[in-house]
Amino acid sequence: VVGGGLVGAAIGWGIARKGLEVAVLDGGDADIRASRANFGLVWVQGKGDGMPAYADWTRRSADLWKGFAHTLSEETGIDCALDQTGGIELCLSDDELAGKRAEIARMKAAHPGAYECEMLDRAELDDLLPGLGPAVLGGSLCPRDGHVNPLLLLRALHAGLAREGAVYLAGHAVEAIEYAGGSFTLRAGGASFAGLRVVIAAGLASAGLAPEVGLDAPVRPQRGQILVTERLRPFLDRPVMPLRQTAEGTLLIGDSHEDVGMDPGTDFGVMRDIAARAVAAFPALAGVRVLRAWGGLRILTPDGFPVYGLSETCPGAYVAVCHSGVTLAAAHALDLAPAIAEGHLPGGFEAFSARRFHVPQAS
Ligand SMILES: Cc1cc2nc3c(=O)[nH]c(=O)nc-3n(C[C@H](O)[C@H](O)[C@H](O)COP(=O)(O)OP(=O)(O)OC[C@H]3O[C@@H](n4cnc5c(N)ncnc54)[C@H](O)[C@@H]3O)c2cc1C
Repeated sequence: VVGGGLVGAAIGWGIARKGLEVAVLDGGDADIRASRANFGLVWVQGKGDGMPAYADWTRRSADLWKGFAHTLSEETGIDCALDQTGGIELCLSDDELAGKRAEIARMKAAHPGAYECEMLDRAELDDLLPGLGPAVLGGSLCPRDGHVNPLLLLRALHAGLAREGAVYLAGHAVEAIEYAGGSFTLRAGGASFAGLRVVIAAGLASAGLAPEVGLDAPVRPQRGQILVTERLRPFLDRPVMPLRQTAEGTLLIGDSHEDVGMDPGTDFGVMRDIAARAVAAFPALAGVRVLRAWGGLRILTPDGFPVYGLSETCPGAYVAVCHSGVTLAAAHALDLAPAIAEGHLPGGFEAFSARRFHVPQAS
């Protein structure tokens, strides 16, 4: 497995649990890693608007999450603090309200009876969330949504890899992958590694590696910034986008979407806007101190949906890149990995092929 972030670690763990010998070759600590910079949501609402297969895959993962977290905790002793009692997205303008209503209508039409997400008016929100500011006009509630501690998730997956006998090698960025005679040779860290299968899950670096084995992973970075406050008494019993309160009491505030290339830094204007939105949602936050902030780079395909591929020219080579590796970790470990261990992708995965970006446009 090339890449030891949330995607590679979840897939590697899932494959190792099927009894195969697994090596995870990872980069170094100076790498830009979405898995160490994300918000920690297990989020269903809005996912797959325009690609029903992705909506189904996300829902599947959300449904697997409780069992997945339980198994990880049983195997490794690490509880990744899953709380999946529903999540809310707030609307602070008429445009946001109209956009959210239209999204829910589209999703319900595409998934009759399966898309559980409802609009809440201001009075309904007040019953659930005391202290909302006058700017909040409404919101949407999805009972499958939740959040975890994503750093503990990554740690648990790495502990799980070790427990299953998988080899994890940091500082082994893969430089080249060769395919000959039905097996792969990977060059990394001055050494060579041979295997019958290779899974490229190296986040943004997948774009450069995938073509070596006849695959395509057209991904680009999109920055998101997150602010973290001092610890507060529990006041949010669920994620309320753009905020979530951690089990330790700090508040994470975020959700910017910036096209700034490979720059994972922070920007005062964006941080100010993030904070202003949080204070508009909950005015009592105006006096709360922000302790730290960071930027991270999302891994985005041209349409924002995942790419999963199995190479036609180098059978046994897979690629997996996605925008929501926390949400999808359960499905990666429990559905995708077992399929790869058997030598195929899960049924219906043609929808996720990168070939969708190469369909000639009708003139
Ligand atoms: C600000 C922000 C907020 C987010 N919020 C959420 C959220 O709330 N919920 C959610 O589901 N998702 C969220 N995400 C997305 C989520 O973090 C990513 O989908 C996920 O972390 C991707 O994991 P990855 O393993 O593909 O990539 P990465 O975490 O980037 O890991 C890639 C790994 O590959 C390694 N690597 C690079 N090159 C090589 C090489 N040549 N050889 C070997 N290894 C290599 C790197 O060292 C790294 O360890 C967010 C992302 C950001 C940036």
